[in-house]
Amino acid sequence: MTLNSLKGTKDIFWPEIEIWRHLEDISRQVFNIYSYREIRTPIIEYTSLFARSVGKSTDIIQKEMYSFKDKGHRQICLRPEETASVVRAYIQHGALRHRKVEKLFYIGPMFRSERPQAGRMRQFHQIGVEAIGSKSPLMDAEIMLLLNDILNKSKVKNYIFKINNLGCDKCRPHYNDILKKTIKPHLARLCSDCKKRYNLNVLRILDCKNESCKRIVSNLPIMADYLCSDCKQHFEKLRKLLSKFKIPIEIDTHLVRGLDYYTGATFEVVAKNLGAKDAVAAGGRYDKLVEELGGSAAAACGFAIGLERLISSISEKDKDDLVGEQRKSLFIYVVCLDEKTRLMGFEILSELRKNNICAEMDYSGAECHSLKSQMRQANNLGAKYVIIIGEDEIREKVLTIKNMESGKQEKIAQDKLTYFFNKTAVKK
Ligand code: ATP
Ligand code: MG
Repeated sequence: MTLNSLKGTKDIFWPEIEIWRHLEDISRQVFNIYSYREIRTPIIEYTSLFARSVGKSTDIIQKEMYSFKDKGHRQICLRPEETASVVRAYIQHGALRHRKVEKLFYIGPMFRSERPQAGRMRQFHQIGVEAIGSKSPLMDAEIMLLLNDILNKSKVKNYIFKINNLGCDKCRPHYNDILKKTIKPHLARLCSDCKKRYNLNVLRILDCKNESCKRIVSNLPIMADYLCSDCKQHFEKLRKLLSKFKIPIEIDTHLVRGLDYYTGATFEVVAKNLGAKDAVAAGGRYDKLVEELGGSAAAACGFAIGLERLISSISEKDKDDLVGEQRKSLFIYVVCLDEKTRLMGFEILSELRKNNICAEMDYSGAECHSLKSQMRQANNLGAKYVIIIGEDEIREKVLTIKNMESGKQEKIAQDKLTYFFNKTAVKK
């Protein structure tokens, strides 16, 4: 038995972790500007929460849930998404209903037992928002503007918001009937999944990737022609807003999300360089969910960004530019010439760190390694400066400082150490 990580999961560490943290930081800044507050919900929840919200006919519930009985015989699961958890928390805690419109964001891992492939993990990460308590198209526009800001600040290029309107409980049932009637004569030619969808949730046939289903779908009536006047108006206002704020959109009349709770305006952001798994983020309105999960009726909308896909959609050069600033930070390596000077080196190191200066030395040998080997280490780690400490330095109470970029070497008094580096940091 190997002790490697599970298929479809991934260890994330330096240097890749830098871009992860950077994108999380960018998102947090944007959330703050738009006054969204963070929420952290548990990774385990009752399975029934997702069965009731995401929908029994969806791929997530049918085949992708990590669901099991715990020792108390409770059916629990690893969350496959977080909207349901956030809504559950919103209903559970009065303190979360303090603002008329509660705007929340989350960052964390999600779990789906899918076939691992490029862009599809079993543990993946989402950055998402939920805005609960507003029916206004301004709210839909705000979350899309916010998402657009995150994408721009993350240097994602060539992306587009595909949007569609899935209608509401007034107009969608009628459209469902029309779809069923039109599809019925072609039922035999649908794929086996779509045959099931026909009864469970006919709308999802529109989204099937199977070629023969796609051909049938291309001739079907579209939701836009059956929207009630409220849905039509809402969508028109939203479209105008998005065009005013220059959000790149494309109407996609076959866009249906893989989760049942969506109503009204729904969208997916696709990036052209991602290949088949091109969806970076997805979201929309879910005006019925709060009520369906037992809360008082509250209209809501939100989205989730797939963090792994966001990272894949940024060019290597742009990733370097994004994290470059961090790499430029002042980094100092302390080199000691022999065992006698090592303790002094350790004290210098501590003093630098106490002054918030990033510094390191070599502990790898029980005894001090050669000057050459320590200099090589300093170079490998990208040190901007090396402080060299030998017997002469101790006797004369000085430190030799080498600028690794210019190769210039100078001596400074020991008690001027932090002054020297603070001055250097200011100059940078
Ligand atoms: P897909 O059509 O790719 O299966 P979905 O409809 O299941 O997506 P959502 O549940 O809406 O996706 O999740 C939002 C975003 O999370 C997706 O756009 C994608 O970027 C990301 N995502 C979803 N599932 C995975 C996965 N298994 N691995 C990596 N990222 C994922
Ligand atoms: Mg999916």
